Amino acid sequence: MDATSPAISFDNTEIAFRHKNAADLRKAAFLFTMMNNNFVTKYGTRLTPWAMRIGLPIGGIVKATIFSQFCGGETLDECAVTAEKLSAYHVNTILDYGVEGEEAESRFDENVKEMLRAVATAKSSGHIPFVSMKVTGYARFALLEKVHAKDTLTNEEKAEWERVVQRVDTICKAANDAGIGVMIDAEETWIQQPVDDVSMEMMRVYNKQRPVVYNTAQLYRTDRLSFLKDAISEAKRGGFIYAIKLVRGAYMERERRRAAEKGYPSPIQPNKEASDKDFNAAVELCFENIDHVSQCIATHNEYSSLYGTQLAEKKGIAPSHPHLHFSQLFGMSDNITFNLANAGYNVTKYVPYGPVKEVVPYLMRRAKENTSVGGMSSRELGLIRKEVKRRKE
Ligand SMILES: Cc1cc2nc3c(=O)[nH]c(=O)nc-3n(C[C@H](O)[C@H](O)[C@H](O)COP(=O)(O)OP(=O)(O)OC[C@H]3O[C@@H](n4cnc5c(N)ncnc54)[C@H](O)[C@@H]3O)c2cc1C
Repeated sequence: MDATSPAISFDNTEIAFRHKNAADLRKAAFLFTMMNNNFVTKYGTRLTPWAMRIGLPIGGIVKATIFSQFCGGETLDECAVTAEKLSAYHVNTILDYGVEGEEAESRFDENVKEMLRAVATAKSSGHIPFVSMKVTGYARFALLEKVHAKDTLTNEEKAEWERVVQRVDTICKAANDAGIGVMIDAEETWIQQPVDDVSMEMMRVYNKQRPVVYNTAQLYRTDRLSFLKDAISEAKRGGFIYAIKLVRGAYMERERRRAAEKGYPSPIQPNKEASDKDFNAAVELCFENIDHVSQCIATHNEYSSLYGTQLAEKKGIAPSHPHLHFSQLFGMSDNITFNLANAGYNVTKYVPYGPVKEVVPYLMRRAKENTSVGGMSSRELGLIRKEVKRRKE
């Protein structure tokens, strides 16, 4: 397969970094250099959460550095400003309230309220077509595990599950009324069935006219291509648009470890090539069904992103087709995002927000992902240095 496109080059750093001035570039270069250092990342990702927890006054440093690189702001108002800035380059925003790991019912209800505020911000912004949510922000993990395993629920648990569905429905309905969409994240395989089921239930209700609710498929799972085929057939039969965010998957080590510990076959592809193959096949499958399927190609992989544009070109599908979206995380792979946007594609940045203290787990994951072991930092650094040099010439 030819991965080069005459129209788009992800090496074009002029377009990639138009939104950054010299100081922004220096700051990004410093951060990626730090994250590229295994020693700094190893100890930084241990010490930062601890220092925040015991109340050391490092919030300001975190906010000025890693937070400002990977988060849109602490509040919705700050995020609306970020969204506005991105929109100047035709990049839209997916709002992601980054608070994680809460297990209390009162907190789940608070999260619904926060999500409704996010929906209202999205509606008034005009540059925020989606909000994103994790079902674990609205349900106890252990309850999801039970529902997934089809264990018999007590009457109390049945009522608890009903409340979870109700919370998800409240968010989807608000998004539908506001004319925006909701992307539901994929999580661990051992809680994913209820997430898939509730997503499908919401699509059945809200995706009749346009794609409002998106589920997520992790193509590092061996079973997701056939899952996608079945889901698309079901949506066709049901007369609604199937909407799906395609990702490779974020929990590979945890999945493999659990499978080994519990002695069941790993649900994860045997190697990276197999994940890549299924990811690209999923992109193609969605294109083949574009009248019935809306896809968001959510990846930092340059080949997969280009492949999406090549398929669009080959099939005569306009870059701005409402069933075709691309997305990258805020602060990463600007070379993909801004070059796709420049070529007229629907592109979004996935923009987490929340109080600094609460988004620290998310930030630590980004730092780990960007170590020299993970490999992303070197690519980011190379591109930033190239742009700094180009501006001097
Ligand atoms: C906008 C956006 C939304 C996202 N939402 C979700 C979500 O809802 N749920 C979720 O789980 N993740 C989500 N992710 C993260 C995503 O799943 C990936 O972890 C991340 O994007 C890296 O994959 P890639 O395609 O960008 O890049 P690549 O660098 O091409 O791929 C890396 C990925 O390949 C896979 N992989 C690597 N090595 C192997 C191996 N040895 N065997 C098998 N597979 C391997 C893993 O999935 C790894 O993360 C999201 C990412 C983006 C950009």
